[in-house]
Amino acid sequence: MDLWIQPCTPCADLYGKPATETPHRELTLNGAGGVKDARAEEHYTCVRCRAVFARILAGPPGRQIWMLLNAGQH
Ligand SMILES: [Zn+2]
Repeated sequence: MDLWIQPCTPCADLYGKPATETPHRELTLNGAGGVKDARAEEHYTCVRCRAVFARILAGPPGRQIWMLLNAGQH
């Protein structure tokens, strides 16, 4: 996986949105084996820009968001 990718526009839009937001069409769900607890979070990879997202499905409501795991800090 490439580190510090530049997210494409749909990824940049999705970043920080509530986890209830549906994934955009370029995102593919990663195998559940790569995730400690598939009920708590799902991981997606964007086929367009290689962004890796964690969709947090458990914990405090304010933490249940789409997190971008491999983008640089801007
Ligand atoms: Zn993307």
